[in-house]
Amino acid sequence: MASSVTRESVLRRLGVPRLVNASGIYTDLGGACLSPAIWESIGEVNASFSSLPDLLDRSGEQIAALVGAEAARVVPGASAGIALMVAACIARGDGTVSEQLPGASGCAGQVLLQRGHRYNYARCVALGGGTVVEVGTESGTSADELNRAIGPDTCAILFPAHLGGKVSTLPLQEVVALAEPHRLPVLVDAAYMSYPLELISSYTDQGADLACFSAKYFYGPNSGGFILGTSPAIADVRAVDFTEYESGPFRNFGRALKMDRTTVVATWLALEAWLAMDHETRWAEYAVRVERIDRALADLPSVTSAPCCYTLDDRIAERAPVNALALRASGAGPAVDTVVQALAAGDPWVRCSQYDGALVVCVETVAPEDEEYLIERLRAAWSG
Ligand SMILES: *Cc1c(COP(=O)(O)O)cnc(C)c1O
Repeated sequence: MASSVTRESVLRRLGVPRLVNASGIYTDLGGACLSPAIWESIGEVNASFSSLPDLLDRSGEQIAALVGAEAARVVPGASAGIALMVAACIARGDGTVSEQLPGASGCAGQVLLQRGHRYNYARCVALGGGTVVEVGTESGTSADELNRAIGPDTCAILFPAHLGGKVSTLPLQEVVALAEPHRLPVLVDAAYMSYPLELISSYTDQGADLACFSAKYFYGPNSGGFILGTSPAIADVRAVDFTEYESGPFRNFGRALKMDRTTVVATWLALEAWLAMDHETRWAEYAVRVERIDRALADLPSVTSAPCCYTLDDRIAERAPVNALALRASGAGPAVDTVVQALAAGDPWVRCSQYDGALVVCVETVAPEDEEYLIERLRAAWSG
């Protein structure tokens, strides 16, 4: 691994200061950090050439075996995964259709989405050549409404897993049961459903044809992810992805969604490590680190603090593990906005989240060697 001196100097040459990320896993902040072991392994991959079609096929087999799914395919992230799943459902293995996507005419391209499931990444459907058709109202969608929306132009139903528990929306199992007589594929965006581990295979186990995941959430590359699915559905994804564009018969849809061989291998290795990781220990370590930071700030008069769980995932928050410290201004101390600005001004700069009027210091993405610096900066910022 590069020493921090080298790392800093290359960023300095670019004029981009190093960031101590106490905010969490976000694409704009670089996703996650690859482990030293994975970094070393992909160094080996980088040092020689290999066939990308072979890497994709073999890594897909490995991932499917790891999670107990029928088939899998590495893709460049979950957003690309949505586009590729949709393109696969439109082309269904037909290379002449793949060549026309996302503008194929005369093909069924409507993707149904429960109105209550409207979310940021639904626009990736259009990237794959589909059109989102919302069904029902904000207050709910009935089985009858969804059934009546299915027609000759429908190619799939999209189900964002993180919105699965929303009141008055139909749960995945009901959507799958409803789609089955129409032989309509159900696509799941399970981008951050990689913890608890048993979630990973749960969507395809419930009958979804394809489910996509983002590698950023299991300490993989920011530009990685994978799709799980049935063998025929994954074969359809394979037929539209970036491989064999030059060597095969079709100028396939997915050519612009390509990956480095290091990304493909790192995605597989990161998933393997994630599945083998002791997650109870991971959470216990967060709690210890949060407590250490809390103690180091205890004498500041202008702050009140409370350990908390900062996550996208309400189900994890319910189990109440701790990975963050919520800091609130009290007395005559600086306001949270002022503190955020002070933290952003340093080099390295520090980024925390703001939530519900508090400054949230999430330790999950803070390198242990940066913890002292983080404390120093927090103390300086709260001292005004
Ligand atoms: C991050 C995220 C995505 C996009 O994943 P990428 O791998 O960054 O493309 C899609 N859906 C949800 C719910 C996400 O949180």
